[in-house]
Amino acid sequence: MRQLIEDRLLPQVLKPARYLGTEWNAVHKDWDRVPVKMAFAFPDVYEIGMSHLGLQIIYGLVNGGDDFLLERVFAPGRDMEELMRAHRVPLFSLESYRPLKEFDVIGFTLQYEMSFTNILNMLDLAGIPVRAEYRGEQYPLVIGGGPCASNPEPLVPFFDAFLLGDGEILLPQFLDLLKSWKDKHGGIPDKEQFLLEAARLPGVYVPRFYDIRYGEDGSIVEIRRNRAGVPPRVARQVVSDLDRAYFPTHPIVPYLETVHDRAMLEVLRGCTRGCRFCQAGILYRPVRERDPELLARQAEELLKATGHEEISLTSLSTADYTCLEPLIKLLMDKYQGTGTSVSLPSLRADAFSVHLAKELQRGRKSGLTFAPEAGTQRLRDVINKGVRERDLMEAVTAAFEAGWTGIKLYFMLGLPTETREDLDGIRDLAEKVMEAGRRISKEQGRTKKVRVTVSVSTYVPKAHTPFQWEAQIPLAEVKARQHYLKSILKKGITYNYHDAELSFLEAVFAKGDRRLGEALERAWELGCKFDSWREHFSFARWMQAFRETGIDPAFYANRPIPLEAVLPWEHLDMGVSKRFLLREREKAFQGVLTRDCREGRCTGCEVCGGFGVDLVLKGGKGHAGPAGV
Ligand code: SF4
Repeated sequence: MRQLIEDRLLPQVLKPARYLGTEWNAVHKDWDRVPVKMAFAFPDVYEIGMSHLGLQIIYGLVNGGDDFLLERVFAPGRDMEELMRAHRVPLFSLESYRPLKEFDVIGFTLQYEMSFTNILNMLDLAGIPVRAEYRGEQYPLVIGGGPCASNPEPLVPFFDAFLLGDGEILLPQFLDLLKSWKDKHGGIPDKEQFLLEAARLPGVYVPRFYDIRYGEDGSIVEIRRNRAGVPPRVARQVVSDLDRAYFPTHPIVPYLETVHDRAMLEVLRGCTRGCRFCQAGILYRPVRERDPELLARQAEELLKATGHEEISLTSLSTADYTCLEPLIKLLMDKYQGTGTSVSLPSLRADAFSVHLAKELQRGRKSGLTFAPEAGTQRLRDVINKGVRERDLMEAVTAAFEAGWTGIKLYFMLGLPTETREDLDGIRDLAEKVMEAGRRISKEQGRTKKVRVTVSVSTYVPKAHTPFQWEAQIPLAEVKARQHYLKSILKKGITYNYHDAELSFLEAVFAKGDRRLGEALERAWELGCKFDSWREHFSFARWMQAFRETGIDPAFYANRPIPLEAVLPWEHLDMGVSKRFLLREREKAFQGVLTRDCREGRCTGCEVCGGFGVDLVLKGGKGHAGPAGV
C-alpha cells in the first residue's frame, strides 16, 4: 500500500507533506512487537490537527510506554480522498501506512461540533461501519474524548465509549485494560463484556449501557442504566498536579506550515473567571498552574528538540498565570539576543497585558485583539465578563501609544437578554476605540491608518454552563441583528460576522441528544463534510437531512429547556454542580457578578471538593476554602 500511496497518490495532491508521517520527532515503532495499537484521529486536516497541543501530549505519553503504540490520522483533503476512493486505498495511519482497520482502537478527539460529519467520513473511508452496532469483533473499538465528549449524545450511535476529562490519566488506564484483555483472550472476543469492564473505570462513559426514555413532547423523561455495575453518573477525571503530569518536550515538527507553528508551553490548565457563556471555563476547572522553573526547563528542551524560534505560553487565559512576570523574565534573560521570541496567545483587556505584549513583541506591531464580548456594561455583567469600558479604553490607549495601529474587538451576538441598546453599545465602543487611535496617531505624527475591526460571532448556548437552559435566538433574528449592526457601524470600521447557519447547527448539536445521530448520518450520506469550512458547508443539505429524518433542528437550538427537565447530558458529571449553574443563571438575570475564586473566597462551584483537588496557584495567591457564595 505504501508504494501505491507514494508513487500514485501523493504526486497528484496539493499538499503531499500532510501524508508523509516522517516528520522530525515522529515515532515509528516495530508494529509486531507492540501489543496494543491505537490510532489518534483528528477529524480535520493535518495543519489544524498538528496545531493541537492535546495531540502532542497523547502522542508522546502513549508512545512513551513499551506496550503501546499510537499513530496519527487526519481527515484527508478532498483531492486525496478522491484518489483514495478511486484507487481503493483505505484510510491509513501516517507512521506505518497501515489501514485503520488493523488497529485495536481508534480515538477521535472531539474539539468542535462541526467536525462530526468528518468522523463518519473517516470511518467509512477506512472501510469501518460507521454505526457501532454493525462493528463486530473484527473491527477496532472507536472512542472519543475532548470538549465535545461533555455532551457526546449526538455521536452515540457511532462510538463505543467516551473518555471524560484529562487524557493523561484516562487513556493509560483504558489501554492497560485493553492490554490485559488481549493478554488473557488474545484479542477482544467479546466487545460488550470488555466495554462493561471499561465502563467501571473512572471517567469512561459507555453510552450503550444507558437508556433514554422520551416523553410525548419529545423531551427526555429519564436516563436509566441498563447494566449493573455501571455508575449512574460518569465523572470527569482531572490531573491534580500539572507539574507531575506528562508534557511533550519532543513534539513532532511538521514539514508544512500549520496554524500554530511554534513551540507550545502549557503554563496552566483551567480558568475560574466564571464567564457564564464559556464552556471551557467549566470543563477545565479548577485552575492548575505549572511551576515557572519547570516551565523554563521544558522550554529549553522544547527549543532544542524542535528548532522552533518562538515559544507560545498557552492556556485558556495566560495573562492570569500568577507567575507570568517571573516566567517571562526567566525566558527573556535566557533567550534575549538569540532570535527566540516569546508570545501570548490572547490578551486580557487591560493596560498590564498590553505592557506585557509590548515587552514581548519588539518588532513589527501588526494587530491586537481584545474580547469585551458585549457592547454594554449591563450585558457584560449578565455574562460575568469582568471588563469595564475604562479597562478596555486604557488597554487600547496603551496599545496605540506603544505603536500598534490595528485593534480587533471581539463580540458575541444573541447573548441572553440582549437588546438593541447592546448592539448600539458595540457601535459606541468601536467608535471610541477608533477616536482614541486617531487622536494618538495624530499626536505622535504617524501616517499609518488606524484600523478597528469588529468581529462578531453568534452566541451558542452550551451544555454544562449557566446558560445551558437558554435558547439560541431564531436564525431570522440573528440575521436581522447582524444586518442592524452592519447598518449602524460607521464607515472605516471593518465588520466581520460568522455564518448564522453554521452557528445554528452548532447550537443544535451542542445541546443535542442521541436522536440527532440519524440526521448526522443522513447529512454525511448527502455529502456534508468539512462543515466548518465555509467553502464546503451546505446548509441546504443539512436541512434536507433533518426533513428526511423527521427531526426538527429548532427543537434543540431554539427551545428554552425548563429548569426541572432532564438534560441529555444529565448523567455526565463535569464536576461543577448543577446548584452552582442554577445560582449563576439566577445571578445573570439579576446582573449580579461572581468574582474569580482565585482572588479570595471559593464561590462554591464544588469542583475542588468533588475531585479532591485544589486550586494550584504557583504565585501563592488564592485558595480553595469552604464553599461560600
Ligand atoms: S470549588 Fe471553589 S475554589 Fe474550587 S474552582 Fe470552584 S469556586 Fe473555585
